[in-house]
Amino acid sequence: MLKPKVAIIGGSGLYQIDGLEVLEERNVETPFGSPSEAFVLGKLEGVEVAFLARHGKGHRILPTELNFRANIYAIKSLGCDSILSVSAVGSLQEEIAPGHFVVVDQFIDRTQKRPHTFFGEGLVAHVAFANPVCPTLCRDLIEATKKVGVQCHEKGTYVCIEGPQFSTKAESKLYRQWGADVIGMTNLQEAKLAREAEICYSTLALSTDYDCWHEEHDSVTVEMVIATLQQNVEMAKEVLKTVLPQVASKEECSHCRSLSHAIMTDKKFIPQETQEKLKLICGKYL
Ligand SMILES: [Zn+2]
Repeated sequence: MLKPKVAIIGGSGLYQIDGLEVLEERNVETPFGSPSEAFVLGKLEGVEVAFLARHGKGHRILPTELNFRANIYAIKSLGCDSILSVSAVGSLQEEIAPGHFVVVDQFIDRTQKRPHTFFGEGLVAHVAFANPVCPTLCRDLIEATKKVGVQCHEKGTYVCIEGPQFSTKAESKLYRQWGADVIGMTNLQEAKLAREAEICYSTLALSTDYDCWHEEHDSVTVEMVIATLQQNVEMAKEVLKTVLPQVASKEECSHCRSLSHAIMTDKKFIPQETQEKLKLICGKYL
């Protein structure tokens, strides 16, 4: 029975990883429903990993339709304590050219209708989220991009929009004024839920094209975007292979205890049903 410590969530274009020695496909059910897809468990560079195609095989699930809670809960139930999330993004800054990578360190939430917490139903908890990603994972990712030789920006703010439409020019310009660097549709809920589940989380954002604020935007063809996406995904796989041994041997950090002072509700008022449902997430504190 494999016991991976590291989960990889693959976004647009990253539906499988070459070189991954697949040992098992595992369906995981959760109290929050089904994850996007069966997890692919295997070994990459000798390290046990759990891989999840975020949008399902064949890219069938809209960002709004993603069951983020089931995805993160399932990763927790597999025993993983680190998540490397890979996502295609649009660039909001001239210096983040198509083909560049960004190790995201901040988020802005522009989503509207997504469940983004495990809590509720009689259990109130507030986790710290000022620093939404794990600095250790980020450091390891940055080092790996250097080894692989990909252009990497060592920090950046990711604005997460609802989609599925891309942004308007007015929105794109607004996000630039806010200081956002890249734009995407999926990673913020993952980061929030991972924090609640006491899992270290990081985002490797792959710049596919400039968002619509840029004058180049209209002249870029779909073929060019897809070519960049594919090239990015190939490089991202190399970065993952390089970083994995490091991540697998990572020591426990503060995110592994993010709930220790977060639960507000007096234990005796928490409904039994809720306690059962959230046992995996916070049972040790109840
Ligand atoms: Zn951490």
